[in-house]
Amino acid sequence: MAFILFSKPILAIDNSEIANLCDSLLGNRKGAIIVAKPYLAQIICAVGDSDIVSGAEKYPPGSVFKIVSSLAALEKKIDPKNTVRCTYYYPIARGKVLHCSWKPGHGIVDMRRALSLSCSFYFYNLMDNGLAADDIKEMAKILGFDESPYDNISCSTIKKFDTKSFKYRFAVGLTGIYTTPYHLLRMIGTVANAGLMPNFDDNSLTKIADIPDENWQVVRDGLKSSVSEGLCHFAFDNKISAAGKTGTATIPENPDRTCGWFIGYYPADGIPNWAVVVLIVDGTGFTDSAPIGAKILNHLKNTRRCATMEPSVLFEPSALFNGR
Ligand SMILES: [Zn+2]
Repeated sequence: MAFILFSKPILAIDNSEIANLCDSLLGNRKGAIIVAKPYLAQIICAVGDSDIVSGAEKYPPGSVFKIVSSLAALEKKIDPKNTVRCTYYYPIARGKVLHCSWKPGHGIVDMRRALSLSCSFYFYNLMDNGLAADDIKEMAKILGFDESPYDNISCSTIKKFDTKSFKYRFAVGLTGIYTTPYHLLRMIGTVANAGLMPNFDDNSLTKIADIPDENWQVVRDGLKSSVSEGLCHFAFDNKISAAGKTGTATIPENPDRTCGWFIGYYPADGIPNWAVVVLIVDGTGFTDSAPIGAKILNHLKNTRRCATMEPSVLFEPSALFNGR
């Protein structure tokens, strides 16, 4: 079911100013930045390397994919309050160990904290306690990863799994999934809209009926916490109530190289005015993409909305957010 929001497009925002800011923040690095208004299903600007912006080049999402794994686990009725103790090392087979992102280990984490701190140990543990790779694949399909957001942008690739370690690495976005900034924009826009997927080609929203409100709320709390006190906190002005997630992955064809993501939205609660996706090739989400995403959301927070026409919303927005 699609909700058409407008009889004609709103073009009153100064897109070129935002595009110039994104351009200057990207500098001469290879990557891409997309800024959108998720609740209006409207892309404001997309700047960067043409192969990336066109969707011709795809990259693994890294830890931003933990959003998909979390929603898949919630769909399987795994209690988000269940905790594990992250000790950094996660043994998956005799003599084979995966590790988390922080050497001392994250200690006791539940799902919200695992999203906030980007604890991979928590997600490895899910794969041994009720979550299967196929569950994550299924959720990825619901979130549109196997369909192209535009006619001229190719689909995300979700690969088959065979080896034992694959499922763990898939759960944290390191392998088995290759995607584009537009797919991640659509996903983070759906989280920002608490379950209304933005269709950026016709400015409509589609309700994802399969996912209950409380599941969105768990993920939203985790991403809000990431900015207020978790992994994204260092990049942000304390006063901004935003939500976000970083991700870093090695590039499969060249393991010496990385790609770094930040995806986020502002404000963290209520109607989301802005969403941003940042990809920096040969960078990390933590050191490169999150600081850029933070600068953009901080700038946009102060951008006065000058649209002359209000959206003709066909549903009651307050019902979507449980007053939070
Ligand atoms: Zn951890």
